[in-house]
Amino acid sequence: MRRIFIAGNWKMHLEGRQAAELARQVARQAEDCPGIDVAVAPVFTAIVPVVEALAGSPVMVAGQNCHWEEKGAFTGEVAAEMLAAAGCRLVIIGHSERRQYFGETDETVGRKLQAALRAGLLPIVCLGESLEQRDAGQTLDVVGRQLEAVLAVFPSEQASRLTIAYEPVWAIGTGRTATAGQAQEVHTFIRQRLADKFGPDPAGQVRIQYGGSVKPGNAAELLSQPDIDGALVGGASLQADSFGAIMRAAESQGA
Ligand code: PEP
Repeated sequence: MRRIFIAGNWKMHLEGRQAAELARQVARQAEDCPGIDVAVAPVFTAIVPVVEALAGSPVMVAGQNCHWEEKGAFTGEVAAEMLAAAGCRLVIIGHSERRQYFGETDETVGRKLQAALRAGLLPIVCLGESLEQRDAGQTLDVVGRQLEAVLAVFPSEQASRLTIAYEPVWAIGTGRTATAGQAQEVHTFIRQRLADKFGPDPAGQVRIQYGGSVKPGNAAELLSQPDIDGALVGGASLQADSFGAIMRAAESQGA
């Protein structure tokens, strides 16, 4: 049985004190949701205050990105080991905003994924097609290619540590959500590819989140799909009320 996993991506919002306050509110809401896993991903400078605010809470902290080297002359970068030392349990890798604005490729995603494993972090790897690619009927080709870069480096015996986030780029921050059927179709495809590579049992342990304008009003329907195991939430994770409502929708699916 895969536990539903809800993660909030706070992107470049909230400095340390604001982030710690929101983290405390999320921790309170999480007390009503013991059946799911919850994480928040603050900006790098807010990681330590958020880790401190969440002491004693099961809510986990994720980095939004990492570098593939352990240390070195890489100005402005943060190593996976440094995130782990700061108290992160997870790291988001290959978010579409990183691919779009910061030149991340399938190759760098693979290297970062290996770095995350080396550091003992749980990776959340993001995949998803653009609107042009969907309109051209290329969704499964694009997602398949992005997934290949993950499968090339990920050991099957660690499958239970892997989370994939399917995030159609046209649904991120746009208010436009994939329908539950559209999302489930891609999640089924991802699960099948995982099974081809890892075998059915390890593939069944990988959690596949959906991301793209998840809100309290659409979370329950999305999460009711058999292969949607959680959500990566951007905008709606910045308010404790809306994130809490999504967590409760997840909790009632998990129960
Ligand atoms: C995201 O940042 O991963 C995301 C899905 O954002 P939003 O929920 O705002 O679409």
